[in-house]
Amino acid sequence: MKAELPAVTLPGGRQVPALGLGTWHMGEGYASPDEEVASLRAGLDLGMTVIDTAEMYADGGAEEVVGEAIRGRRDEVFLVSKVLPYNASRAGTIAACEASLKRLGTDHIELYLLHWRGRYPLAETVEAFETLKAQGKIGAWGVSNFDEPDMKELLGAAEPSRPAANQVLYNLARRGIEFDLLRWSQVQGIPIMAYSPLDEGRLIGHPALEEIGLVHNASSAQVALAFLLTKAGVIAIPKSGSPERVRENLRAAEIRLTSEDLRLLDAAFPPPTRKRPLEMI
Ligand code: NDP
Repeated sequence: MKAELPAVTLPGGRQVPALGLGTWHMGEGYASPDEEVASLRAGLDLGMTVIDTAEMYADGGAEEVVGEAIRGRRDEVFLVSKVLPYNASRAGTIAACEASLKRLGTDHIELYLLHWRGRYPLAETVEAFETLKAQGKIGAWGVSNFDEPDMKELLGAAEPSRPAANQVLYNLARRGIEFDLLRWSQVQGIPIMAYSPLDEGRLIGHPALEEIGLVHNASSAQVALAFLLTKAGVIAIPKSGSPERVRENLRAAEIRLTSEDLRLLDAAFPPPTRKRPLEMI
């Protein structure tokens, strides 16, 4: 049975669930590919239809895992992939996207992101994104690891086109964007995709999360994800290579954190009081 997942509205009006599926480290050979495919399918079964991947992950191996997972059910999925900055020239972006499409076994990607800023002018990458959009190979484009000044520069360089999302590091232990970028993005209507929402697993078992979890009969992972689900315009993309843990993560959507819970979280993970440069992994 599919749980009621909160939704985030993308520029253009399409709604996607606020809890998706990450894929970094998939396809690297540490876990069984069958188990990784099963994890992504378990997420899709539950309505976690945003799948985030990148040409970088396992040198394309993660995209191949995703391709296998979505075979026969492409229409259910909102696919996100990323071009490396070294490939983000006009011709390079198009070639990278076409290679990703091949590995993913599909003819389009819903949202295609610049993984982080590199040496190519933003206007050049955006021009390539717009070409891909006109060709129907991508539905929308966005960026990743862009701080507020980068975003402002991007809006100027891309005009009249606009990014559909900015994917950044955001979790309870890394709350820097709450000082500025989060609010700015909400005002602009540009969703934030929160990567490493469990701080790469480091939040698991944190005493403050365990304590709050006791009241809600929830795990520390669920509390960490529930916190992000309280934020408007934020899509969290936890990665798990275990179907069981994917199901566990989904149940974060059932938790209603109280103001007392949020106060305890602020005490354990203080929100920022000054500007800090955007952290990235
Ligand atoms: P996460 O914060 O999602 O943590 C993933 C780790 O937590 C894994 O080790 C996973 O192990 C474990 N885990 C997941 N769920 C549970 C659970 N319920 N209980 C216990 N452990 C759990 O880290 P990621 O860095 O993977 O971030 C998520 C996604 O964000 C990435 O996969 C990628 O798609 C994206 N990303 C984007 C970046 C960018 O620059 N744009 C940078 C980094 C990430 P297991 O698999 O064994 O369950």
